[in-house]
Amino acid sequence: MDVRLGNGFDVHAFCEGDHLWLCGVKLPHGRGLLGHSDADVGMHALTDAIYGALALGDIGRHFPPSDPQWKGAASHIFLAHAIEQARARGFALGNADVTLICERPKIGPHAEAMRAALAGIMGVDLDRISVKATTSESLGFTGREEGIAAIATATLVKP
Ligand code: MG
Repeated sequence: MDVRLGNGFDVHAFCEGDHLWLCGVKLPHGRGLLGHSDADVGMHALTDAIYGALALGDIGRHFPPSDPQWKGAASHIFLAHAIEQARARGFALGNADVTLICERPKIGPHAEAMRAALAGIMGVDLDRISVKATTSESLGFTGREEGIAAIATATLVKP
C-alpha cells in the first residue's frame, strides 16, 4: 500500500463585505475575505494538502493568480482539480482534516455543513472529512481579526 501525507496552509485578510466563503459554505458576516478567487481559505489549505501529498506543488502553480480567468473563481474548481490529480494517479483520499483559525465567525454551528460540502466536492464519505476551528486567544493577526488562517492535512492511499 502506498500512503501519502500532505499539509496545506493559507491566510486571507478581511475586507469590506457582508459574507465570506469557508470550506464551501457561504456565511453571512460583517466583513468579507480578500482574494483573487472567492478567498475560501479553508478550501485552499485543503487543496494544497492534496497537491502536497502528490508532490505537485501548490495551488498557485495550477491556477496562477496572474491569470484573469481565475479572478473570482469558486474554489471548488481548485479542490476538484486536486482530487482528480490524485485519482488519475490511482490514489483515493484516506482522510482530510481542516482547522480554521479565527475569532469570528464562529465555526462550530457551520462545521457539519462544511464537512458535507467538502465531502461532496471530493466525492468521498462524510466520515473521512473533518472541519474544526480554534481561536488564537486574541493574539496575532487572527486574534486582531485582521484575517483568517487555515491548516489542512490529507492522506492519499493507493492499494
Ligand atoms: Mg488562498
